[in-house]
Amino acid sequence: MPHTTAAETDRQVRRLYHVAYRIRPIADLLTNPRATGDGVAYATARIPRALSAARRLLTLPGVADHEETPYARSFLTAAERHLNAPSTTLLRIAAAARTAAAHADTADDDLRVVVFRDIEERCRYLVNTALPEPALGRRGWSTRDRAANDTLQQWAAQWGLTNPADTPNPAAPPRTEPVPVPTVPAALSQEATDRAATRARCAAGIRCTETDCLTYGAVKVTFLPGAWLCTNCIPVVNKRLAANGFAPDAVQPDPAGTPDNARYFVHLYNGIGKGSRSVECSSPQRAQFIAETERPFNNTGYTIWISAAPRN
Ligand SMILES: [Zn+2]
Repeated sequence: MPHTTAAETDRQVRRLYHVAYRIRPIADLLTNPRATGDGVAYATARIPRALSAARRLLTLPGVADHEETPYARSFLTAAERHLNAPSTTLLRIAAAARTAAAHADTADDDLRVVVFRDIEERCRYLVNTALPEPALGRRGWSTRDRAANDTLQQWAAQWGLTNPADTPNPAAPPRTEPVPVPTVPAALSQEATDRAATRARCAAGIRCTETDCLTYGAVKVTFLPGAWLCTNCIPVVNKRLAANGFAPDAVQPDPAGTPDNARYFVHLYNGIGKGSRSVECSSPQRAQFIAETERPFNNTGYTIWISAAPRN
């Protein structure tokens, strides 16, 4: 091979390496159980482009036979395998299910919220079990996992969550054509019924923070930050405070109250360990509903705060 051609081949092999190295972390998105819809869409768009760029480079003189090419190729092969693996389909379904659950939540459609969240959770679980875990003696999916994958993909299709030609589009509106509701397992329909009942209860507003009361429709009060009290509990609390030397009638309904543009922050915390998170809501009903339905921890406690600063 003439000198200049060898140098040119080396240059193209370096380009091939560059393509292969860049695609490796992107392909890893497709094995991450927590991958977002955006991440999956990005990876599934980038990988085919990288593969076709690599194919073009491999047709150039000397590149395919170069001694360092097989190593670069191994990254590209792995990326292609991830792209075509069931996990990628599951991550797409998970992203579509998350978006659909958010739309259903906005529409107060409790059955769909429960079903879509369940689908998302099971997709992500299977993506996780697809990863080999030598420490656990796990080499990927068991026969049972494969069967679960088939069933789950069929189930997701029945709910209109699969469209292999499309990448998930978080901005897409919910589909409007009528889809017959499949028969839902009893546990899920019970969960949906419970959720609807909670939603109905929370229509009365925030619960009284007196633990032996918990009546819905409490108001924000003066003197005790973070407290929400019902009309019955305000005199009770005042009596208790007076017995401890505080001014009588220290606690009153807060005149600043709950302005229309107030933001409500539901602080969800782990009752027996570390961890907390906050959810912003635009109404007291929504805040109470979030407080009772979101359980990020096994022992989730909550407090509800209000900020009168206008929303952006
Ligand atoms: Zn009360």
